[in-house]
Amino acid sequence: MTTSPTANWSYPTSIRFGAGRISELARAAKSAGFSRPLFVTDPGLAGLPITAAAMDVLKREGMEAQLFSDVQPNPVSANVAAGVEAYKAGGHDGVIAFGGGSALDAGKCIAFMTGQTRPIWDFEDVGDWWKRADPDGIAPIVAVPTTAGTGSEVGRAGVISNEETHTKKVIFHPLMLPKVVICDPELTVGMPPAITAGTGMDALAHCLEAYCAPSYHPMSEGIALEGMRLVKEALPRAYADGTDIEARAHMMSAAAMGATAFQKGLGAIHSLSHPVGAIYNTHHGLTNAVFMPYVLMQNRAAIEAKMGRLSAFLELPKPGFDGFLDWVMEMRSNLAIPHTLAELGLNSDKADLIAEMAVVDPTAGGNPVELTVEGARAIFDAAMSGTL
Ligand code: NAD
Repeated sequence: MTTSPTANWSYPTSIRFGAGRISELARAAKSAGFSRPLFVTDPGLAGLPITAAAMDVLKREGMEAQLFSDVQPNPVSANVAAGVEAYKAGGHDGVIAFGGGSALDAGKCIAFMTGQTRPIWDFEDVGDWWKRADPDGIAPIVAVPTTAGTGSEVGRAGVISNEETHTKKVIFHPLMLPKVVICDPELTVGMPPAITAGTGMDALAHCLEAYCAPSYHPMSEGIALEGMRLVKEALPRAYADGTDIEARAHMMSAAAMGATAFQKGLGAIHSLSHPVGAIYNTHHGLTNAVFMPYVLMQNRAAIEAKMGRLSAFLELPKPGFDGFLDWVMEMRSNLAIPHTLAELGLNSDKADLIAEMAVVDPTAGGNPVELTVEGARAIFDAAMSGTL
């Protein structure tokens, strides 16, 4: 029998971690200062027993909540606008964001936009644009992840696609950080293996890019290292046996750690994955997993020493950059991650556009080597043909 860790953490926000802790949902909302929540999730989750059980917890404790599930994967601004309308019409005083990154981001952005008068795109994560927001107009948020990948539950941003321009935009405000998070690994047990794989690789991508980003942030680097060790230990187990609660718990920690660490920066995996996701609606973590080895290869000269330390820390059989690359390739193959973008259904028609979008993505600045249009195009071409 495996055991599952339980703990309360106050970093980077208040986190109630442990199997079964969804039973504390109403108390979490109260401690975040609200009692009439809008419960934001996605249509797939809306029909699952874990959602009904969470709503029941609220009902049992006399908390009137309204379910809002008009949220698509890779959520768009119309989802946020509809949520804001539901929030106002229902006289709500806080948001419970329940789901994977899509529902969490939508819920966080709904809470953020309830009291703003400017369009959502005015709050993109550019310079100090967040200061344009009225901080008093941001509703409190309780976040409950049901996947273990994005770490959005501990982040201060939401990723929303602009349906007109087909671009993914990061909407940022420090007060978008949920006041309370419930990390209950039992909620992730029903994730099918393919989603377990894609979201788990997302957690790895966050830790890896944060670790490689050249800015000075030793705290983030330490968190990223341990996050990757947890992925190495737990992702194959969670994929093979979805009911392995200890593995599910470690993946939940790794996801939260990835998003905590990437305050340090991300890189070209994300810069390319964002436009691909916005144009082709591919799953974010899966797209990251496809790009991962090609980006590693392009960054090789700049990260060789770091990869040496990483491979040693992970106790990989082969040292150095090659040892880490081999491990990534093996993990991808064991998780049935496609090797090429072509297997995700892409062709090269929009390759130039994607390269141009990648270099202006806010994550490009964290890449260890400067991401140029030519460089982004070369990574795309390699990922298309499968040439490492
Ligand atoms: P997702 O939220 O899109 O969910 C994928 C699918 O899994 C959905 O169909 C959902 O219904 C289903 N699902 C979720 N939990 C389940 C469960 N417990 N059991 C069964 N099915 C379940 O996927 P995701 O990878 O968690 O999130 C991706 C989104 O997050 C993208 O829009 C991406 O851009 C965004 N993202 C945000 C951040 C951030 O920092 N805010 C970071 C990375 C990614």
